[in-house]
Amino acid sequence: MANLSLKHIYKTYAGNVTAVKDFNLEIEDKEFIILVGPSGCGKTTTLRMIAGLEEITSGELLIGDRLVNDVAPKDRDIAMVFQNYALYPHMSVYDNMSFGLKLRKISKAEIDRRVKDAAKILDIEHLMDRKPKALSGGQRQRVAIGRAIVREPKVFLMDEPLSNLDAKLRVQMRTEISKLHKRLATTFVYVTHDQTEAMTMGTRIVVMKDGLVQQVGSPQFIYNYPVNIFVAGFIGSPQMNFIESRAMEKVGRVFIEFKGFILPLSHDRAQVVKEKGYVGKDIVIGIRPEDLYDDEIFLNGHPECIINAGVDVTELIGSETYLYLNISGVELTARVGAQSKAKPGDVISLSFDMSMVHIFDKETGQNIF
Ligand code: ATP
Repeated sequence: MANLSLKHIYKTYAGNVTAVKDFNLEIEDKEFIILVGPSGCGKTTTLRMIAGLEEITSGELLIGDRLVNDVAPKDRDIAMVFQNYALYPHMSVYDNMSFGLKLRKISKAEIDRRVKDAAKILDIEHLMDRKPKALSGGQRQRVAIGRAIVREPKVFLMDEPLSNLDAKLRVQMRTEISKLHKRLATTFVYVTHDQTEAMTMGTRIVVMKDGLVQQVGSPQFIYNYPVNIFVAGFIGSPQMNFIESRAMEKVGRVFIEFKGFILPLSHDRAQVVKEKGYVGKDIVIGIRPEDLYDDEIFLNGHPECIINAGVDVTELIGSETYLYLNISGVELTARVGAQSKAKPGDVISLSFDMSMVHIFDKETGQNIF
């Protein structure tokens, strides 16, 4: 079993930088876990502690049922793929892939079997005699993954493995790594700062900021139920729109007011706002670009949630259009159909799907739902 347990893990570097604070996570066998967050949030440090390349300041790390805090990297049954691939330049692909196994005194026949099996999976059989400098970025990446596969580890650790590849190859390798995960049926822990990679590859995502875990959940769950403004803004592209507003009550209904505009809240959301005491208070509302419409659409029985918005810029992205809008100085992005007729300078009727609005506490940034 390759389940991992991280219990109250802290990492303080010399010089008193606490890079990871009270990290708790149970990783199930065969999960594909993604650690995601902006630069410096502590994801690489966490991965390196799992690998044994960085000492754990306090807390416990278990692989299976074994406490491994003080176990050497080579005895942890893990393999790590680095961002820069870390291939030996003077060795052929075959030797790069077999080197680690030779050191472990595994028989020649067994090494040959493992290298050939991995090469087949990764479609690099024809490159076995080449040196790394004679390979493309994508091919080097495969060799680096191959070197990890031949070790037949219980856990794969990957630190931004796609960041040196061009955009097209990155998309292709993304799918290949997902397929590889299914095929190998082992636990993967993968670090990235790219929310698209996190959304598309992980079975669960761990969103980090300033050394602290913000939220753990499936990509879909985190997208639909972000716990705070940070997660809401980090996951999703184009990012969620945020509007500083005030909650108010009028003739029994709850409205959101900003810049003199008034939007009615849907019944369930209004209830929560009332119950949690936000009526009359400043709040931040969040609405995803796909929940804004460039037309007067009758949404959820609330035809009145329509506001005139000025169009600053339009971007046609193949199958859809991004509209960059302005409502009295509040900038919003809407993601609408490719057939949208809106053009810069127009004033459009913008419909808000109020059943999709998130409401955040202005002080704490927490989602109040
Ligand atoms: P990136 O995406 O930029 O790699 P990250 O989320 O992986 O960022 P870490 O590399 O884990 O972040 O760094 C977390 C914090 O710890 C940062 O503030 C960083 O400057 C600090 N840090 C990392 N390594 C060391 C070190 N060896 N000594 C001191 N501080 C360090």
